[in-house]
Amino acid sequence: MLFLRILKIVIVISIVLAIGIFIFFSISTNVTPNIDSYVYELPFKKGNNYKVVQGYGGLFSHRHIAALDFEMPVGTPVHAARGGIIYSYKDDSDEGGIFSKYKNKANYIIIQHDDGSFGCYWHLQKNGILVKKGKVDKGQQIGISGATGLVLRPHLHFSVKLKLNYQMNSFTRTKFNSTKGVVILERGETYERPVH
Ligand SMILES: [Zn+2]
Repeated sequence: MLFLRILKIVIVISIVLAIGIFIFFSISTNVTPNIDSYVYELPFKKGNNYKVVQGYGGLFSHRHIAALDFEMPVGTPVHAARGGIIYSYKDDSDEGGIFSKYKNKANYIIIQHDDGSFGCYWHLQKNGILVKKGKVDKGQQIGISGATGLVLRPHLHFSVKLKLNYQMNSFTRTKFNSTKGVVILERGETYERPVH
């Protein structure tokens, strides 16, 4: 039966594809051993929770990069995970997608912390930056999330860097205050910002 043979081939291809996708999203590359001693606030509204869809070293776009992607719809308020001074920003792009041509199209905010490190918030929506200069407090709303730049789906990309380049050790992993306690965030888990 030709039909059964085709069905069998389709099933085998589907299984191989599913396994491939699973491996792609669950295996991660090694990242910096740095861990910041500071306890960060989750970068969104108190009482809200979002899922980490790509964690440290993720294969999609975090290879050897200690960054976190929180899945959130376009238009979600983004809050400062730590206070500091606005270092730089971009908010004039409305382009994003999965192709590398979108790499430099992300809107972003970089906040310099008092120890010299940088908090980086990526993929914000066009005109989605609420504070463009001066001081911001920990927990203060600074922007609105989007899907600009290299993205698979709308999310907030967050990382802390000691130097503004993409060397593995220019990044540091960070601890967050969550309703699960003070934790290092993991892919696939959902974290809620405590109300108090
Ligand atoms: Zn990311």
